[in-house]
Amino acid sequence: MESLSIRVFGDPVLKRVAEDVQDIDGSLASLCGRMLEAMYQAPGIGLAAPQVGVSKRFFVYDYGDGPKVLINPEIVESDGEWEFDEGCLSVPGLSWNIVRPKRIHIVGYGLEGEEISIEADELESRLYQHEMDHLNGKLLLDYLDDDQKREAKKILRQMIMSHGNDDPDGTQRIKFP
Ligand code: ZN
Repeated sequence: MESLSIRVFGDPVLKRVAEDVQDIDGSLASLCGRMLEAMYQAPGIGLAAPQVGVSKRFFVYDYGDGPKVLINPEIVESDGEWEFDEGCLSVPGLSWNIVRPKRIHIVGYGLEGEEISIEADELESRLYQHEMDHLNGKLLLDYLDDDQKREAKKILRQMIMSHGNDDPDGTQRIKFP
């Protein structure tokens, strides 16, 4: 099966607010498997459905203890503040210091329909917050000031142009090493 391409900045699907997953079924499970493959290949530690062109509320991740999926996630509590250098597979090659809540409590569902509840701190907390942003159509660039944003867009435009945009559906794709 053809591997999934990761959509990059400029693709409208990344700006869309994703819809709730209605059915947790076999096709969702197989899509998650393919997303995990693309994530490991990138490599990354998290990948949200909109990043592969699917505007649904779920993401896959591996925070060092194996592949996992979180469906229809919701952050029910957050506190503290923590700044960290953050990058994104959809904004390749760039990263910024971004301030986010330090701790969160996130809930959602797994592929068996089981309820999942996670309390996370620092980097793990940031991973979930980052993927949640993707489900809400938000990218790292939305955290930048005007100067940073202008500079970032310039770099990204050049990067996208030099990689070409030769897909028939006009989707911008970048191959990762
Ligand atoms: Zn991202």
